[in-house]
Amino acid sequence: MSNIDLIEQMDLHLRAWQDSGVEWLPRAGGAMIIPENARAQPAAAVPLFAKAMVQAPPQLTVVSPYPFDPSLFAAGQIPLPAVRGDVGPPLLELPVLEDYQRERAMKDLAYKVSQCKKCPDLVRGRTQTVFGIGPLSPKLCIVGEAPGFNEDKQGEPFVGPAGELLTRMLLASGFKRDEVYICNILRCRPPENRPPLPEEAANCRSFLVQTLELVRPSHICLMGASATKYLLGRDEFIGQLRGQELWWRGIPVTATYHPSYLLRSPAKKHEAWADLQAMVIRMGQLLPEKNG
Ligand code: SF4
Repeated sequence: MSNIDLIEQMDLHLRAWQDSGVEWLPRAGGAMIIPENARAQPAAAVPLFAKAMVQAPPQLTVVSPYPFDPSLFAAGQIPLPAVRGDVGPPLLELPVLEDYQRERAMKDLAYKVSQCKKCPDLVRGRTQTVFGIGPLSPKLCIVGEAPGFNEDKQGEPFVGPAGELLTRMLLASGFKRDEVYICNILRCRPPENRPPLPEEAANCRSFLVQTLELVRPSHICLMGASATKYLLGRDEFIGQLRGQELWWRGIPVTATYHPSYLLRSPAKKHEAWADLQAMVIRMGQLLPEKNG
């Protein structure tokens, strides 16, 4: 195998690990040069990591603009940049698969999710996993937080009172529910409907990213702070993010309140309505007649 073949093989492995949430690799010997833009574009940086691992001399040399804990190197570990936020190639620049290939890939992914046991607390309490639902290539994809009681029982995201409110919000914005792809940051219900823990969101992230890569929505609406935190890597409250022109891998993103929060805080409904109106306008669509 030539060095180039080896580098390509290693790139593939590294990407797969990175997509699965791996942030550290055992030291294989050799230099590790972390490019300055690695944190901004970790996916683009991966080939450089692989190249460095193949071509580097046996002694460890680290050149990096980031503050590393030297004890990690003493322990024989090499950091990979964290995969979070708006990283990876623009979604719509990924190779386009035929619809039947995407449908098959979605079924395979749903099966993998149904077998997943990465979060022991959630696995213990779940009735079933809750995959996304909706068409491929929709104009809009909703990403919420995690399944609740009703979703866990029915195996579908956004059902029960919050789901009914979402359906009304979509209709008022000119979308039928079955035209929209709907999913969550987590695919398993957290105990007592608590927010997802960072490690759970990291565990489930590759399922979400693969779903979005296959679905290829034209616009993403993130509902609730967990969705903005774990998809965009933004820690601000929704009240601070709403109204901003956000993006995820080249896809325009709108942030607004989660319907469950709106059920508890109905005074915020007019803000959510303004967010959806702005989203429809940003999407270049007309608002439904009665609301125009
Ligand atoms: S939440 Fe996601 S990563 Fe965690 S067990 Fe469920 S499917 Fe697996």
